[in-house]
Amino acid sequence: MRQGVTILGSTGSIGVNTLDVIARHPDRFEVFALSAATRTELMLEQCRKFQPIHAVMSDPQAARQLEDQLRLSGLKTRVLLGDDALQRIAADERAPIVMAAIVGAAGLPACLAAARAGKRLLLANKEALVVGGEVFLSAVREGGAKLLPIDSEHSAIFQSLPDDPTTWSGRVEKIILTASGGPFRERALSSLPEVTVEQACKHPNWVMGRKISVDSATMMNKALEVIEARYLFGMLPEQIEVVIHPQSIIHSLVQYRDTSVVAQLGTPDMRVPIAYGLSWPERVASGARALDFKALPSMTFEVPDPQRFPGLDLAWQVLAGPVGSTAVLNAANEVAVQAFLDRRIRFDQIHTINCGVLQSWDAPRVGGIEDLLAIDTLARAEAQALTHKLARP
Ligand code: NAD
Ligand code: MG
Repeated sequence: MRQGVTILGSTGSIGVNTLDVIARHPDRFEVFALSAATRTELMLEQCRKFQPIHAVMSDPQAARQLEDQLRLSGLKTRVLLGDDALQRIAADERAPIVMAAIVGAAGLPACLAAARAGKRLLLANKEALVVGGEVFLSAVREGGAKLLPIDSEHSAIFQSLPDDPTTWSGRVEKIILTASGGPFRERALSSLPEVTVEQACKHPNWVMGRKISVDSATMMNKALEVIEARYLFGMLPEQIEVVIHPQSIIHSLVQYRDTSVVAQLGTPDMRVPIAYGLSWPERVASGARALDFKALPSMTFEVPDPQRFPGLDLAWQVLAGPVGSTAVLNAANEVAVQAFLDRRIRFDQIHTINCGVLQSWDAPRVGGIEDLLAIDTLARAEAQALTHKLARP
């Protein structure tokens, strides 16, 4: 029997790759619902090809436009609008699999809805876990959901760990996340303030959305991934290490108590972790090119330079802080990255804003998701205020 899949954020880089894998397995998967913020043309094309029952648009004008175009094309997909609809399609019983591929904390409520409804939840949307932390994990446990990592590093770790999670803490010494080092790994440090949006969005190994591309250039992406790994695998922060591996062939490693290291390797193609998430514990074709070891360049490793990537260390700093600190860092970073993409602040000022917001934050008690969402809102306001102060005239 075919399994229904909902894709939250289907018009993004992960969404498009997910549909590519699904299209290779029409006997296994069918698309139940798709969602996007604004890109109606691509959504229309996806509706034509995959015939979902629902398409959710976040933007009212885009929703109206899509509705008209669907009608003109004689397609039966029903358009829904807004956040409530997003949560409804994430929890609908007709789709046992949900791909969370919205970017940012905006995806958290729908992730929680899927977790509470006991879905197989494929998590690309790392910010949702960084903000939700233990609250997110309790929703997964209570709902009986299965959380599967899509981030290539976390999929690699998941593939390198034993099947039984209760054995992890006894057997594992540490996990080592690899990082490409992004586009500025070798650029003169003194020229980082002049980095343009175009340069920051041009990743050497991966084609991704703009936010994660900027995060890769600052290595804030790796900082978020350290936090993500802490929650996904229940490791202590000091058991998580980061190493730069510019070729992106080893996607991450697990070191065991006896010093054995187990890793997952492959060409850099997000369809591999996506196919694994969709088919786990089985394996299905992903469409990716296999590694050719005879043609492989040498593999190199470097320690991240804290002067070049000052944001990386913030991960351990917030993990040592009170509950909610990871949400504050994420909110500050989302606002700062958007300000950089809008050309209102310089590249190096992203870190200035992240540190400024963390310093001014006074930890309230966190009881549940409402508290975390309130912290997210407050931290965003503080980051906006700092952005205005720094903004170019
Ligand atoms: P993207 O910008 O290409 O796509 C984002 C998707 O989310 C789009 O469909 C967009 O319409 C939708 N969206 C954006 N804001 C929204 C909002 N406020 N409400 C509802 N929908 C909204 O991003 P991406 O590169 O596909 O990344 C998606 C997530 O996956 C991110 O959390 C990213 O960190 C993670 N991720 C991406 C990659 C990659 O290779 N692209 C790799 C690992 C992890
Ligand atoms: Mg990653």
